[in-house]
Amino acid sequence: MARRFNRLMSRRGKIIKGTVLVLLTATIVCYRLADDIGLDFKPDDRWRIVNVIDGDTVELPGGEHLRLANIDTPEVDAPLYEEAKQFLTELALGKTARVEYIKQRRDKYGRLLGYLYIDSIFAGEAILEKGLGYLMIFSNNDLNRRPVQKLLAAQRRAMKAKTGLFALERTPEDYYTAGRGRFRLHRPGCESAGRFRPDRHRLFDTREEALYEGLSPCRKCRP
Ligand SMILES: [Zn+2]
Repeated sequence: MARRFNRLMSRRGKIIKGTVLVLLTATIVCYRLADDIGLDFKPDDRWRIVNVIDGDTVELPGGEHLRLANIDTPEVDAPLYEEAKQFLTELALGKTARVEYIKQRRDKYGRLLGYLYIDSIFAGEAILEKGLGYLMIFSNNDLNRRPVQKLLAAQRRAMKAKTGLFALERTPEDYYTAGRGRFRLHRPGCESAGRFRPDRHRLFDTREEALYEGLSPCRKCRP
């Protein structure tokens, strides 16, 4: 009887210890997240979009800017800039959106980085589907993430449909280059690509075959 009681108590001890461990881990994870994104920004936040800055940036209440992760829409002086901004405005302005932050929660300008969902619409996917931006990733690992796979699939559909940026007339270069393991595509001789070396660079016959793989155009040489 006593032995059974002891066994019961020791099992109870294990359960308590386990529970304490789980709570402790959860607390540390929460602190880490709060540390990365700031105490006011919790995972899966819902925010009303108070302003649309451009095709891939919105303003949240309090003035914080949120940059849509893994997409790049045209700069202010480039074709389809207004169209991209207008599209995001119609989709998001005044609506309550859910924000899914990515691991690197702010960009170098201090803007929050994340995926924006309005009702069931994944904003980045809708933008790329219309050909109003490019997928923008930084490593092969990015391609393993579900949202990035959705973005790439949407971009491929836009390419197939020749819509938006894929409908623009372009004078093709003889070839295009990208650093191995890098995801920016350059025109021949772009200084951002460095001098071509077969062991360090890849060649593409067309820009389309590179974009199909998930590369995005360099912002300097704009291939
Ligand atoms: Zn370039």
